Amino acid sequence: MNTIKNLDLALIEAFGNQLRGELIAPSDSRYDETRKVYNGMIDKHPGLFAMCVDVADVMAAVNFGRENDLLVAIRGGGHNGGGLGLCTDGLVIDLSGLKSVRVDTSNNTVRVGGGNLWGEVDHATHPFGLAVPAGIISTTGVGGLTLGGGVGHLSRKYGLTIDNLLEADMVLADGSVVTVNKDHNTDLFWAIRGGGGNFGIVTSFKFQAHPDKTVIGGPTLFPIERTEEIMEW
Ligand SMILES: Cc1cc2nc3c(=O)[nH]c(=O)nc-3n(C[C@H](O)[C@H](O)[C@H](O)COP(=O)(O)OP(=O)(O)OC[C@H]3O[C@@H](n4cnc5c(N)ncnc54)[C@H](O)[C@@H]3O)c2cc1C
Repeated sequence: MNTIKNLDLALIEAFGNQLRGELIAPSDSRYDETRKVYNGMIDKHPGLFAMCVDVADVMAAVNFGRENDLLVAIRGGGHNGGGLGLCTDGLVIDLSGLKSVRVDTSNNTVRVGGGNLWGEVDHATHPFGLAVPAGIISTTGVGGLTLGGGVGHLSRKYGLTIDNLLEADMVLADGSVVTVNKDHNTDLFWAIRGGGGNFGIVTSFKFQAHPDKTVIGGPTLFPIERTEEIMEW
């Protein structure tokens, strides 16, 4: 496996010219800020960040990684406990620029960018009285949480996040783009519903949303003297 350090600078420059988003290398003053993830114990030093802003950027980054035999990590919200959104010496394909949320009230569906965070989705759906079952923390990425299954406050009522995934657009390892849903590329659609992040890069998700305006959460406590009554109930 190759490292970024071994690559010709001209090759990296040519890659940068293909992108609308930026490249961030270790020499960049933003590098240390960029390599931070949610778990502060993770201290990985990637060789290069490709800060993608559209699907074309993701395709170019995947092709660059494959053609140069680089270790590649994909970062959505950066919440993974083990820091799987980063790698050492390789290429990080950062999706934080792929954000957009579109609510379709004609069928209560929501189209979400591959780099969105769940708080951004909630913010967009809430005014319409809708919600997609997701996790409990607003800064978790839609990408990693969905591809791992997704459990949260609404799961008991509406199922896991993957139960509500209707469709995804994906960039595959060969740089091609496919749409997966119950009718197209059904094996891949099955795989991404809980299989984790290694089947391709999801650039867009489409979810079923549900009517839900306000959730009141917290522990439910009863006085000790009512134990018998509560247990019988
Ligand atoms: C504080 C905290 C609270 C949490 N609460 C919940 C919870 O309530 N419910 C729950 O189900 N989980 C919860 N999690 C777990 C969380 O869902 C996972 O850590 C998830 O991987 C985070 O996704 P991310 O996109 O933020 O992470 P990242 O670190 O960016 O990515 C995680 C993995 O997913 C891959 N990935 C991310 N986006 C994409 C994409 N668009 N396409 C392809 N691969 C991608 C990455 O390559 C990596 O392997 C929580 C985690 C934390 C730290």
